[in-house]
Amino acid sequence: MAVINCPGCKKKISDKAKVCNHCDLSLQGLDADKMAALKKVEKINKVQQLMNYSFIAMILFCGGFFMMYFDNVETGSLRHNIAMGCVAIGFIMYIIVRIMLLLTKRKSS
Ligand SMILES: [Zn+2]
Repeated sequence: MAVINCPGCKKKISDKAKVCNHCDLSLQGLDADKMAALKKVEKINKVQQLMNYSFIAMILFCGGFFMMYFDNVETGSLRHNIAMGCVAIGFIMYIIVRIMLLLTKRKSS
């Protein structure tokens, strides 16, 4: 008897289990087609999640940018530093999310 990860919820279950005791996914007759379908859904969810992150990053970036240039904040002031921080974090976050998206899409195609 070995411990495997449930293809539905990724929690550890016995490979002899007929049904996952975490998410009730039936493990019997789980053939390649069903596995592929589950993987596809999982990938779509992951891409969707990454898209949400990139959206948040964009808002952070644009918000910081807007605060810095259209609100006439003094250089060196707290608000300016916050704006700079938002731009920097938003930018880095966006780059990371884009790379992760690229890797996710490439992996299973
Ligand atoms: Zn499960």
